[in-house]
Amino acid sequence: MRPEVLFPLFAEIRTLSGVGPRIGAAIERLAGPKVVDLLWHLPTALIDRRFSPAIASAPDKAIVTIAVEVDRHVPAPNRRIPYRVVCHDGTGALDLVFFNAKGNYLENVLPVGEKRVVSGRVERYRDRLQMTHPDHIGRPGELEALKRIEPVYPLTAGLTSKPLGRIVSEAVRRAPDLPEWQDAAWIARKSWPSWHEALVRAHAPEEEAALLPSHPARQRLAYDELLANQLTLALVRRQRRGRPGRAIVGDKSLRKRALATFGFPLTGAQETAAAEIAADMESPECMIRLLQGDVGSGKTVVAFLAMLTAVEAGAQAALMAPTEILARQHFATVEPVAKSIGISVALLTGRERGANRGRIYADLASGATSLAIGTHALQQEAVAFADLAFAAIDEQHRFGVDQRVALADKGRSVDVLVMTATPIPRTLTMTAYGDIDVSRLHEKPPGRRPVDTRVLPVDRLNDVIARLRRAIGNGARIYWVCPVVDESETLDLAAATERHAALETLFGDRVGLLHGRMKGAEKDAVMARFSDGGIDILVATTVIEVGIDVPEASVVVVERAERFGLAQLHQLRGRVGRGERASFCLLLYGSPLTETARARLNVMRETDDGFLIAEEDLRLRGAGELLGTRQSGLPDFRLADISAHADLLEVANDDARLIVERDAGLATDRGSALRTLLYLFERDAVVRTVRSG
Ligand code: ADP
Ligand code: MG
Repeated sequence: MRPEVLFPLFAEIRTLSGVGPRIGAAIERLAGPKVVDLLWHLPTALIDRRFSPAIASAPDKAIVTIAVEVDRHVPAPNRRIPYRVVCHDGTGALDLVFFNAKGNYLENVLPVGEKRVVSGRVERYRDRLQMTHPDHIGRPGELEALKRIEPVYPLTAGLTSKPLGRIVSEAVRRAPDLPEWQDAAWIARKSWPSWHEALVRAHAPEEEAALLPSHPARQRLAYDELLANQLTLALVRRQRRGRPGRAIVGDKSLRKRALATFGFPLTGAQETAAAEIAADMESPECMIRLLQGDVGSGKTVVAFLAMLTAVEAGAQAALMAPTEILARQHFATVEPVAKSIGISVALLTGRERGANRGRIYADLASGATSLAIGTHALQQEAVAFADLAFAAIDEQHRFGVDQRVALADKGRSVDVLVMTATPIPRTLTMTAYGDIDVSRLHEKPPGRRPVDTRVLPVDRLNDVIARLRRAIGNGARIYWVCPVVDESETLDLAAATERHAALETLFGDRVGLLHGRMKGAEKDAVMARFSDGGIDILVATTVIEVGIDVPEASVVVVERAERFGLAQLHQLRGRVGRGERASFCLLLYGSPLTETARARLNVMRETDDGFLIAEEDLRLRGAGELLGTRQSGLPDFRLADISAHADLLEVANDDARLIVERDAGLATDRGSALRTLLYLFERDAVVRTVRSG
């Protein structure tokens, strides 16, 4: 149960004064539904209102807070001319200027003959000083209170800064003092404030430096969040490890025959990864390992060998892919080899229906089928295995911790291998998986030729077309990738459809279209035509990014490449360069290009090392954006900034490991405070599984 001391923070935002349905909805969109969400909504700028000059000496464009006396109101004669309120102090006159003003309201807040305090930006306009729409209007006694440094928060439509600032302050006032969950020596060494003080200070920046991730208050809050993340992962891992494991030992018979059937030797990296996995499977602990490697580096082959190890040991294995196309592709790679060595393998996606599906279920449940390849359909309740011992989850560049567990629960002590083509840097691996063991395929199978990458403005489209014509003349097949428009599948689609039509007028009916809204069978048909050479150009939205494999394709054109994340571009480029033919990648950008976008495109031109690209991506964009979308399933930190706080993440990782070694039940005083920390960051599920004592 959540500790009572946190109740005020987990109340709905509507319980804060001044938050009605309209503002409430806006805040919910901006920060979240609960009071605690506002605590994490930190200012991104500040306004210094301490400057209080006399009117005569107020510099142009300065933010000032001054006491004035109201002389007269000059209502607006028409819509285009503003309402003016003329004021003065001992040194000169100041016009307060209002557009679309309500006279009644202004007479009320600025009564003629009375003293008032106003704060806002002043301008000199034809030798008069004026202030348009003062930020604050107060009574004379409020001068000192208004002369402060005001935090500026990110806003959203329907929410202005004054009410938001007031509401956030109230939320911060609700924050209780909490027991210290950090190690005393560590806090002392960093000279960090307590949680409560850090929170108050982060919301009351007194200088620009207080807005930076390096400020002690911000570091402290970020570290709290990172520790909650790492401790959660460490606790989950300990529970997994704590389960009785099982040793899966194969006799290599199937693996040897499969390798002979492949007709190629494993690369050194594949050998190493396969050996690491086999060792994990042989150990009596549950395996959870990440297999990282670029598209085409040979992960599927490694996973397949591990699956065969399970079969050698008399058990079953499964491989789950994120999309149907990918599942079918894996199946196409694996099935011929499996068949030739006498192993039965089933394909299970949303499209296997009726009697066929029933038969698949029955054969998995009886053990007649040894290997299953499929989509999330593998996790449905109706699916049961006679004895599942190994599961490979191909996540490409998505991560879904829950999904992983669901498939693993279909067997006894299932060894899990997570495959990813996103060469995420170690820091990010750590936030998503904690101390997961990692095997990396650094080297590609021999014979791959580097992809010649060119970056050019989209207005050179004619050159591009001419080039494609030549390439097609030489038998090339081409992917044309259309840009992603944020959050709008419809617009993506429109762009792709339009490009398809335009290319059709140039290249006739040898142009196909592939997008996410198409039915499975339609997609297969287009893919098959592209694969067979029935079409030369495949116009696609980013659906092709997730692992489509047509070795004959040798050109990829990416339109508006500046809108894609580096990792995505790398994936897209990975679609070509797999066959004999010299391949090229044309990255077309829309001008003007920002500095960062230019730097990113340069990275693409200069290297094809996925790990290097991922590090550059992290450096150039910050972790939140690393994968181009929020769908990555990587933790979305509110306070920590992975590119700025990477060193803190390392410490949090060590810290969490020590905590779990010494006090896995969170039973000590610090342990009990750490429970509060976990609840504060909404890790309720994990705390509930911690048995104390
Ligand atoms: P990934 O899953 O990492 O994208 P795959 O395992 O699907 O890569 O391998 C990509 C292609 O390379 C497949 O056609 C596969 O048969 C081939 N391949 C894999 N390993 C090797 C190797 N060691 N030598 C030659 N070709 C290989
Ligand atoms: Mg593959």
